[in-house]
Amino acid sequence: MPRIVTTCPTTGQTVPTGYRSADLDLEHLAGPMSFRCTACEKVHAWTATDVSIEATARFVA
Ligand SMILES: [Zn+2]
Repeated sequence: MPRIVTTCPTTGQTVPTGYRSADLDLEHLAGPMSFRCTACEKVHAWTATDVSIEATARFVA
């Protein structure tokens, strides 16, 4: 299941939001979501326009 990822505004790294694409309907997201960033350990808010679905192909060696 592909993860929903976003870009950390502090480090610029691509980080997982903790949600997977099946967990949320991004097109009908009610409002900003927040998560604790794995790159800088701060809490960031994100909306549907800030995130992308991580390609499963990335995991193919
Ligand atoms: Zn961060």
